[in-house]
Order: sequence, then structure tokens, then C-alpha cells
Amino acid sequence: MKYWSEFFIPTLKESPADAEIASHKLLVRAGLVRKLSGGLYTYMPAGLRVMRTISEICREELDRAGAIEMWMPHVHPAENWKKGPRWAAAREIMFRADHAGDRQKPSEDPEFVLGPTHEEVVTPLAGAEINSYRDLPKNFYQIATKFRNEIRPRYGLMRAREFVMMDAYSFDVDDDASVVAYHKMKAAYEAFFKRVGVLAIAVEADTGVMGGSYSHEFMVPAEVGDDDVIYCEESGYAANREKATSGLVPADIADAALEAEVEKFATPGVTTIAALAKEPYIVAADQQFKTLVYVGDEKPFLVILRGNDDLEEAKLSALGFSVVRPATPEEIEPILGAKPGSLGAVKGTIKSPDQLAGIFADHAIKLIGNGTTGANEDGYHLRHVNIGRDLAITGWGDFRTVKAGEPCPQCGQPLKSRRGIEVGHIFKLGTKYAECFEATYMDDQKQTHPLVMGCYGIGISRTLQAVIEQSHDQNGIVWPWAIAPYQVLITVLDPDMAEAKEVANAVGVAAELVGADVLVDDRDGRPGVKFKDADLVGFPLRVTIGGRGLKEGIVEVKWRHEETVAKVPVAEAASHVANLVESAS
Ligand code: ATP
Ligand code: MG
Repeated sequence: MKYWSEFFIPTLKESPADAEIASHKLLVRAGLVRKLSGGLYTYMPAGLRVMRTISEICREELDRAGAIEMWMPHVHPAENWKKGPRWAAAREIMFRADHAGDRQKPSEDPEFVLGPTHEEVVTPLAGAEINSYRDLPKNFYQIATKFRNEIRPRYGLMRAREFVMMDAYSFDVDDDASVVAYHKMKAAYEAFFKRVGVLAIAVEADTGVMGGSYSHEFMVPAEVGDDDVIYCEESGYAANREKATSGLVPADIADAALEAEVEKFATPGVTTIAALAKEPYIVAADQQFKTLVYVGDEKPFLVILRGNDDLEEAKLSALGFSVVRPATPEEIEPILGAKPGSLGAVKGTIKSPDQLAGIFADHAIKLIGNGTTGANEDGYHLRHVNIGRDLAITGWGDFRTVKAGEPCPQCGQPLKSRRGIEVGHIFKLGTKYAECFEATYMDDQKQTHPLVMGCYGIGISRTLQAVIEQSHDQNGIVWPWAIAPYQVLITVLDPDMAEAKEVANAVGVAAELVGADVLVDDRDGRPGVKFKDADLVGFPLRVTIGGRGLKEGIVEVKWRHEETVAKVPVAEAASHVANLVESAS
């Protein structure tokens, strides 16, 4: 039993000015965290209790799934990262530990970096320590601090520069075994989120710079989430928008019939899809080809989409570049011969086609057939452009953003879209890292093979806040039982009264005996203030003991998530509360 007067929960009436979302406001108002600086937070005593509990539940579920806990350094030699496959892409987000470099003037050649995750540390370790198929499978995990120089830290713990993550890494003999490890972890995640008391849904995800072959994200549905989930209620299909596909383009779509010859026409001052859709041209956006210029590992390439479609940049990862960015107007003109707004990919119109690493077309342009595009000459466009006949396409892919309302790729029903908070991620990595670090094992025939890996992350601190986002009301947090900082709050309205103290003690001991964590609000102060604090911090079960009630022979018992207050005879209070605790645990 802990006494509030001896503990420290600095609650606030007002929200901090930089808090935009409910969970961030409540975290600070309930005294769970304090900000040091952008994206850097102190976990105050009550906040730390929640974080410890979530970590412990995570530990139990991973141990149950056969994973093995360890602890790796968080300062990494840059050398490890340079040897790995994603130095170019990941260095932007890494704090460099030996110089006070910032994003504008990064230290180009740091000796150390602060770890954003640990593939570059655990893979060489496994390579050195695992020699034989007899040592496999293994899955190592840790629950520890991660560092990422996020461009825009925001929403409190949601996107922080320093945060707590569970990261795990599985090592297997082959792909089939790796899939088994993947599904074990998926099940462990499901058990973990269920026990924590948060609804998190597994959705198909993009593999990004991790370059794996298979991946799921766990999403907490919430308006304030940074991710879009595209889903179908009919088939159960669910994917991050970065990865989502739709049934918009039939697989067997035929080439449009040839019409008239390509014809150039003047479009002075017209540099947008929207302008070409208006008088006097009136070319519907979905009949225009949109030509975008990107640079992949310093080589320019083109992406062609329908005029009414948006590029989903994450999908460019399919092209295999390690770093991709939009080209600048200065880079574009010398290659294509025109400024953005008059660009196209019709054969013979590109000024320096040999400088391009490729011309990649989105499948949906097949819906256009004959269309209109830029002439690579400022102020001119081309019409009657036929895909097969006229466009210099070198590769096809799915590059467009899927929109709600398009047909589900599995069943054809309209897709829906909603925001989500990514709280966890699982990847099947394959042998990419093992090959970089020459991490191999020997099979029973003395043949050497690369270790087949999976990697897994749960944002422990982000999950803590996602729970609040999902579970609060206008008065404060409503903690799920399993992770509340204390499950039972005993509010003593007359702390100087001996009988009140005695009853509080008896109830507290009874609740603790059946496993609850108990906090006694023994502070001097008005009842209104104490009730407000109780609701704000969000303890699941409140027992109120006051002089007036004791005179009537009762104490009051109330669940945080219910309105009703039960009056319980003093003599039955301890056993009544113990029963409630047992039913909730
Ligand atoms: P995001 O897309 O939100 O930037 P990520 O895909 O980069 O996240 P992973 O590398 O997959 O994240 O990390 C595993 C988990 O760590 C994420 O699912 C998320 O819950 C958590 N996480 C990642 N970045 C942050 C951050 N800046 N602050 C708090 N938690 C984070
Ligand atoms: Mg992720």
C-alpha cells in the first residue's frame, strides 16, 4: 500500500500549450510524464509504473513464445552501420554520438551513433556465436531505449526522440522455419496487446528500408494516428496505405485500340493537370498521363501515373534503390528538355533518355489507353498518346495511392480507410543482413548457409500513450485494469479520523492480498479536488471513506468506467472490494 502524501503525482488543471491531442494532454496533466525538450520526456513515478507493467507483460508473452532476453549497447560503432545494408537511408535519423552534429551540418564521418534499432549489432553477434544448425532456432529480444532524430517529434511519447521499444531478432535455418518464427511472434503480439487492454489490429505493411519480404504492422485505430489503414469489412483485408492495393485495374485489361496519330497542341501557361482539365482543353484528369521525375541513388527515373492519381512514395521501394527523392526542377530540364508541367514520356521527345535509370508506369494508366501528356517542350502537350505504341516504358508496377471506395483486391467490395497508430511491427527479413555480415551456420552435411532472419518491434512507450488515446473520457484517463499505475484508489476524505484510517487500511490490505496495487489518497484537501485527481489519473476502482459515510455505516465503491456509486456496509467493505478485485484481475 502506498500513501499519496508520500508518493508523487503532480497533477495539473491546465494542459501544456504544445499538447495537441487528448492523450498527450492527459499524460502531462495526470503527472505521468514531464517534458525535458522536444521529443524527450521524463517518466514520472506513476508513469514509470505503467511502463514497467507494460514491459513486464511484453516480457512474459515473448518468453512464452520462446524468445530470449538480452541487452545490447545503445552506442553503436558507425562501422557496423556502414557494413550493413541501410547506412545511406538510416543515417538521417541517427543521432551521431561523437559530435554535436545537427541535421544541417551532420558530422559526415561519425565514429559512433546512437542505436535506432539493433540489426547491425545483433547480426554480427549471432554470426559469431551461432555455428551449427543445432544452435537454431533462436530469437533474441531486449526492452530498452531507442534514439531517433525524428524531423518532427510530436504528440508526446507518440513520436519521441528517445523512446522505449521491445526489439527482437529471430534466426532460423531456412525460410519455412523463419515463417514459423514470424507467426509465433504475431501470436505473441496479439496476446500482449490483448492483455494490455488495447485494441490493436494486424495490417499488411510496407517493408521500407528494412527490405524484408513480408511484414505486418499492429495498428490502434485512432483519428490522431499518423498512418492510414485501408481495409475491407467484407473480406477482412487490411493494409497500411503505403502498401495497400485495390482491384481497380482488372488483371486482364486489354490494350486500348489505336486511334489517331499523336498530335502536338499548344497549351501556353498550362502546367497542371487541373488547368488542362479546364476550358478550352477539357481533358479529364483521368485521361491525362502524369509524369514525375525522381532520383534513386543519384540516378534520375520517371514514374507515370494517371492524372487523377497520387504517387505513394513508399511503393517506390519496389524499385530497389536505397535512397529515393523527388528531382529538383534544375535537374529535370536538362534531361527531359522542359520544365515540370510539360513533361511526358513519349518516345523520341525525351532530350537525354540515356541519363534515365528507367521509366516506370503504374498499372492504372492502362485504364487511359489513349491519353494526353506533356510534350517535353514548354507550353505544349501531346494528345492521342497510346500506351503500347507511344510511351517509352521500361517497367510496370503499383505506385499509386489507393483511395477509399475502390474495390477490395480480395472481394471487390468498396474499401474503407481510417487512421491508426502503429504500435508494433514484424518483418520477415530473409538473409539480407546475414549476407552483409557473413552470419552463417553449418547444416548437418557441413554446408554453410546464411542465417534467415526476422525482426520485430513494439513501441512500449507509444503503446502506453495509445492506450490513453483509446481509453479516456472528458474527466481523464480510464486505465485498463492490467496496466493501471494502481488498480485501487482508496480516497480518505477525513484523513485525521482514526476510524477512517482503520477502514482504509483494512480495505487496502484485503485488496492487496488478492493481487491489487493500492494507493491511499491520504492528502489533506477538499473532496472535490481529490475526486478530480482520481478521475484524471484514472484508477480503475475507487473506494471512498469519509466521516459522513462512516456515521451511516457505509463506504462508497465506484468503477472509473461506470457512473454508479455503490454504498457498501463498512463491515463488508474489505471482502466486497476483494471480490471486485478478483473479478477484474
Ligand atoms: P513510424 O512509421 O511511426 O516512424 P517506424 O516504422 O519507423 O515507425 P519501427 O522501426 O518499425 O518504427 O519501430 C518499431 C516500433 O517502435 C513502431 O511500431 C512504433 O511503435 C515504435 N516507434 C518508432 N518510432 C518511434 C518514435 N519516434 N517514438 C515512439 N515510438 C516509436
Ligand atoms: Mg514500422
